[in-house]
Parts: sequence; structure tokens; C-alpha cells
Amino acid sequence: MHPSTSYLLSWIILGAVVASSDTTTSTCDALSSVLSDVFFPESDIYNASISSYPFIQLRLHPTCIVRPKTSQDVSIAVNVLRESGCTKFAVRGGGHNANAGFNNIEDGVTIDMQSMNAVDVDKEVVRVGAGAIWQDVYDVVEPRNLSVLGGRIGVVGVAGLTTGGGISFFSPERGWVCDSVVNFQVVLASGDIVDVNATSRPDLFAGLKGGQNNFGIVTRFDLKAFPQGPIWGGRIAFAPEADTALVSAFTEFKNPHKYDPYAAGWVTLRYNGSTKQFTPTSILWYTRPELKPGALAQMTEVGPQVMNGMQEAYAGEFTRNASLVVKSASSRTIWATTTFHISPTIVHHIHSLWKSLVPKICETYAYARPTSELTFQSLPPSPQNGSHPNSLGFAPDSTPEKDLVFLQIIFYFWDASATEGLNNALKEFIKMFNEIAEEEGVKHKYIYLNFAAWFQDPLGGYGKEQVETLRHVARKYDPEGLFQEQVVGGFKLF
Ligand SMILES: Cc1cc2nc3c(=O)[nH]c(=O)nc-3n(C[C@H](O)[C@H](O)[C@H](O)COP(=O)(O)OP(=O)(O)OC[C@H]3O[C@@H](n4cnc5c(N)ncnc54)[C@H](O)[C@@H]3O)c2cc1C
Repeated sequence: MHPSTSYLLSWIILGAVVASSDTTTSTCDALSSVLSDVFFPESDIYNASISSYPFIQLRLHPTCIVRPKTSQDVSIAVNVLRESGCTKFAVRGGGHNANAGFNNIEDGVTIDMQSMNAVDVDKEVVRVGAGAIWQDVYDVVEPRNLSVLGGRIGVVGVAGLTTGGGISFFSPERGWVCDSVVNFQVVLASGDIVDVNATSRPDLFAGLKGGQNNFGIVTRFDLKAFPQGPIWGGRIAFAPEADTALVSAFTEFKNPHKYDPYAAGWVTLRYNGSTKQFTPTSILWYTRPELKPGALAQMTEVGPQVMNGMQEAYAGEFTRNASLVVKSASSRTIWATTTFHISPTIVHHIHSLWKSLVPKICETYAYARPTSELTFQSLPPSPQNGSHPNSLGFAPDSTPEKDLVFLQIIFYFWDASATEGLNNALKEFIKMFNEIAEEEGVKHKYIYLNFAAWFQDPLGGYGKEQVETLRHVARKYDPEGLFQEQVVGGFKLF
């Protein structure tokens, strides 16, 4: 059925229902009268959808869940939701943003894109349904000796990661994941299904690269692929006493004079509040199959090591193995982030502060069995001159910044009553880390949206001018503010 025909039909039906009560329940009834895949509490698919959120705090209970199979289904759903005038809704891709309410909703409608996960390759463009996870993509492209800029853990969604920026194995060489999009297919607030690319709606094209759910629902991502064989990499776990050497090695790795576009990865300092153990780890890759490349040598040679999983494999094998760890976790998870330029001392100072405070915090909330992680990663260099703009606030540059580090601080825990206290701890940590960066004169305004906490302002971190541009784009493509007023979750422009 043509979207506009089903839309009209929905409104004949909804008219009757809504006339009596304009509630979310009646919107769900209207949705289920025109779409086959609308699920209510107690149905198996509803329950499977809720339990597939990886972190417990994300398992909210919407009045109904819509699982569209086509862009037309999404268009119909958007029309019904818009005409309801008030029903709040959420959009879910892979469901891996840790902020409760960003990808699911209590007593509203959740549009769960999981059924739209087809992946097709057409020469060097990969068309990816917006409900796909990265493992779906690697599994299709790698047998063709291709790869894409994508997530480094297979269970993570294409949609959220790409519309929030996106950092890949290949980012030091090729930049942000969002910059590899050649076309977005999008359902706008009007219900229109449109193509968005460098020549068709270029303002929205830039907006979707960093503006996430502020403009519409992306239904398909067309990604540029490139020839790629296996890479070298993996995880190393170190003895607790190796932490300072590992931090020094990471600091050296980030020296912009030693920048190697094939070297990527991060270091994580972990504290388990139950065992009271610190475990430093690194996860590193070299995207050419060279064993022990110089750029990573300092980190791979830190000791003592308790486990060394460095090996040659396809990116999709690394992402599959990493997914097993995430899938088995299922805790409550909260995170926050900040960004700075590397200096000889900044990572050491931040690490020492965290190390001195985290045992006490975990002790205070011991009943929730918390674990904390402090991770340091490289930000991709700013785009090259001539790139199509994104919205992340990094101007295309002939001398891209190569010394940017972002940190992510996480608490995993198992008792909801510790949420407020641990969120406050996150806020305090970020404040103190920023003070250290300010004192050293290395603070950077960017806040990576995909790792930002709900209390942070990553859009503001793109810069005032960029936010104004994004607001203009939102007004142009969504003049009634559907994606501001009714999609309440996410980082909003207004
Ligand atoms: C284990 C793990 C590993 C990670 N690894 C990486 C990594 O390697 N690189 C990296 O950059 N980040 C990484 N991240 C962060 C990741 O980018 C974010 O968590 C991101 O939000 C995940 O995307 P998703 O589709 O799963 O998100 P969801 O939680 O489903 O969505 C996130 C946001 O995007 C919006 N959204 C979802 N679908 C659409 C759509 N179709 N149209 C418009 N808006 C939509 C949602 O409304 C929501 O606000 C990782 C996170 C986790 C938990």
C-alpha cells in the first residue's frame, strides 16, 4: 500500500479512536490498525525487544513497540505519531547508548528499527538498513575483501554510532565514521522519504553527521567501502603495577610527531569494587598486517602482562569476540566523557586522581557491586580540506589536529538505588578532570556525543555557530518541531 493511502486510512480509524481520548494507547491502536508489526506488553516480541537492551536501565516499558520492516512503515508511523499531536516516542537503533530514555521510553511509543537490518553491497557502496548492528555489516563486506568505517564491537548499532560521529579501527587514517556516509535515506517529520547527500539537501547531510535524532529517522545508510584485508591487534591485560608504564606508553603514542595513521586503540584502567583489584588493559590495532609495528611497540611491550591476545584477523572477528564480553555483562552502566590535547603529564594526573578516589566511591556503594573504568582514546583527526562538512565542530583542515584524546569514565553496577550517587560521582570526576586540563592549558571544548552523559552538552561542544546552523536545519526540515517535542530522548537542539 502507498504510504499516503495507509496514512489516510490510519486517520479515518484514529479519528474514531482519538475523538474519545487522545492517549498513547489510542495512538498505539491506530498504529496497529495500519501496521502489522506493533507489539504490546506481554507479547513475546515486545518482551524480546525490551530484554535485548544491553544495559538494565534502558529496559523501559513503552505502551507499544513499532518494528517497521520498510521505510514506508516508518513513514506511516511518523504520520500517525505526528497527527496524534502529543504522543511521545523514542527511536532505537542498536540500543547501545547508555542514557536511559534516549532509545526507549516509558509509557510512549518506541520505534525499534531492528527488523530493518539488510546489508547490500553495490560496487564500493554498502547499503545498510538503520536497524543493523556493525557485525551484520562486517559479515557481508569482509568476504568481498572490503571493509567500512564502523564500530569496534559488533553488537553496537550502525544508526546511533554514525549519526553521533563514530570512531572506527580505521579512523586515524580515514576519519570519522559519519564522513564515510555517501547518502542517508531519511523519513522527515512530514512523513516524506527522502535521499540526503552532498547534492540533495546538503545542509541536512551535514546535520545528520553529529545531530543524531534531531531531524528525522534515518532508514538507510549508504557507506563508502574500501579494499581491506586482515589487521593486527587485540587485547592485552597487564598486572596492576604496570599501570604507570602503560599510561606513559599511551602518552608517547599520542605524541603528534609520532602519529601513525594505521595505529589505533585505547588503554583502560579498571577497578573492581568487589575484588578491590585494579586491572590495566590495552586494546590496540594496526590496520596493516604488520606484526609489532613501531607505533604500538611501546604499549605492546609494557609488562608484566597476564594475557596477550594480539593476533592477525579480520576486523569482523575482533568485533565478534568483543561482543561476547558485552553480551555477558548486562549490568546497569553509566558513562561520561571529556576531551583534551595530550601533554606529557595530563593522562598521568587524571589517572592518579581517579585511582586515589575510586576505591572509596566503590566502597560507599558496595551493595551495588560497582566496577569503574577509565579509558583513554584518540579522537580522529579533523577532516581533510575538501571533505564534505560534518557538524562536529572540526573545520576541514590541511593540518589536522592529531593530538586529541578523549576519556570515557564508566560505572557498571547492579542496584538501581546507587544510580544517583554514581551519577554524582561521574559529574564530580568530569569536573575535576576538566580542571586538571584547564590548569595544564590543554582543555578542548569537544564532548563526544556517543559517550556523553545525559547531564553533558555535546551539541554545545560543537560550538555556538554550529548549534545555530543545526537549529536552522531543524526548523527547515521539521518546522513543527516533531523531533524536538515528541522525541524527548537524546541531545536536543531546542
Ligand atoms: C560496547 C560498546 C562499544 C562501543 N564502541 C564504539 C566504537 O567503537 N566507536 C564509537 O564511535 N562508539 C562506540 N560506542 C558508542 C556508540 O557509538 C553509542 O553507544 C551509540 O549510541 C550506539 O548506537 P546504537 O544504534 O546502538 O544506539 P541507540 O542507543 O539505539 O541510539 C542512540 C541514539 O541515536 C538515535 N537513533 C537511533 N537510530 C536512529 C535512526 N535510525 N535515526 C535517527 N536517530 C536514531 C536514538 O534515538 C538515540 O538517541 C560503543 C558503545 C558501547 C556500549
